[in-house]
Amino acid sequence: MKAVGKWLLEHLFLPILLIILTPTIMLIASQVFTGDWARLFAATPLVVWVILAIILIPWAVYAIHHRIKHIPGENWSLKPLRLQPPEGWETINNIKHAGVIWQVRVPIRTSTFRGKEVPTLNDLDIEIPPRCPDCDTKLKQAKSFWWGHIWKCVKCGFRKRNRDDWFTEERSVILLAERWFEETHQPK
Ligand SMILES: [Zn+2]
Repeated sequence: MKAVGKWLLEHLFLPILLIILTPTIMLIASQVFTGDWARLFAATPLVVWVILAIILIPWAVYAIHHRIKHIPGENWSLKPLRLQPPEGWETINNIKHAGVIWQVRVPIRTSTFRGKEVPTLNDLDIEIPPRCPDCDTKLKQAKSFWWGHIWKCVKCGFRKRNRDDWFTEERSVILLAERWFEETHQPK
């Protein structure tokens, strides 16, 4: 039952699409095959329409209601576990990607004997959340009701819609950061 519920929710647009498309397709089919826009409608027994309505309308209402109620909770459920280095992070670069700023950072590591250790490629980490391109404030993320995610700056009102959430974008940013690091830090 749970799997069925999940499938119904994940296909939120299906009932809405069916409600819109069924009459449209029937109108066109009626015109094409009978030369009369309304003939197929008239020929369809009422019971078919009633059954369709009984299935589709509650499905659409339920799916929309669920989405409105649960979207705020979903925004943080994706958060992966991130270890915090004991001496904190040092930002070594800013990368612009997907219209926002991502800080590239490395753990601060100091050794009693050798002083500060030089970071390697494996130390690179991308700060989450990314920052506002206009004022450098950390952004807020909200899943959009219709499509994608919305990143918002609480300080200056900057707003950007992005298909993927920032944990997904981060995987591209780390590749850019690694390439930048190779170009600037490693001997040719
Ligand atoms: Zn801003």
